[in-house]
Amino acid sequence: MKLIFLGPPGAGKGTQAERIQTAHGLVQLSTGDMLRAAVAAGTETGQVAKEIMARGDLVPDDVVVGIIADRTQEADCANGYILDGFPRNVAQAEALDKMLAERSDKLDAVIELKVDDSALLARIEGRAAETEGGARADDNADALKKRLAVYHEQTAPLAGYYKNAGILRTVDGMKDMDAVTVEIEAALELKETDNAG
Ligand code: AMP
Repeated sequence: MKLIFLGPPGAGKGTQAERIQTAHGLVQLSTGDMLRAAVAAGTETGQVAKEIMARGDLVPDDVVVGIIADRTQEADCANGYILDGFPRNVAQAEALDKMLAERSDKLDAVIELKVDDSALLARIEGRAAETEGGARADDNADALKKRLAVYHEQTAPLAGYYKNAGILRTVDGMKDMDAVTVEIEAALELKETDNAG
């Protein structure tokens, strides 16, 4: 099964993807995590990405498309994967479609997590406080504002793109974490609903 988790920064994509991957034997592929690892390792990609990420902009499409094209061909992806943070714009979505078509493959579903901007700001400020601002250079108010603006401009249109493709499932990301997981499971029809009572 190949899934995309779509949603603004702080919507809970990473947390939910982690739960769904564990439960269903998929691999979570976070382009943000891979780019942060590249920055930490000081690779060529990391050097390109560092400043761009710190200000909340998008890293060039060819960089992230290349990362995903390579990573999805590794052995642990054979059973399927969850793309967390990719694609981020229509050009990346088109590149992904092309890549999958070349492999005679396709996406199974796109899970969109809907969360209000005000709730996101509160969540991300909490995350910055938890990590004492040290873990992520982009967890600060200015970068978050930029990331939200980029999301609305470039990433949110993907909901329409995947709705047209007939694979969009929208979930209420404002609920508590467990309730969101239940909604995602239901949306994926991976789990029988509890009809007891
Ligand atoms: P994330 O951890 O998904 O919030 O990503 C953190 C940062 O990494 C983003 O603000 C971008 O600068 C960069 N990034 C992650 N995924 C992508 C992507 N698919 N396209 C471009 N930039 C990305």
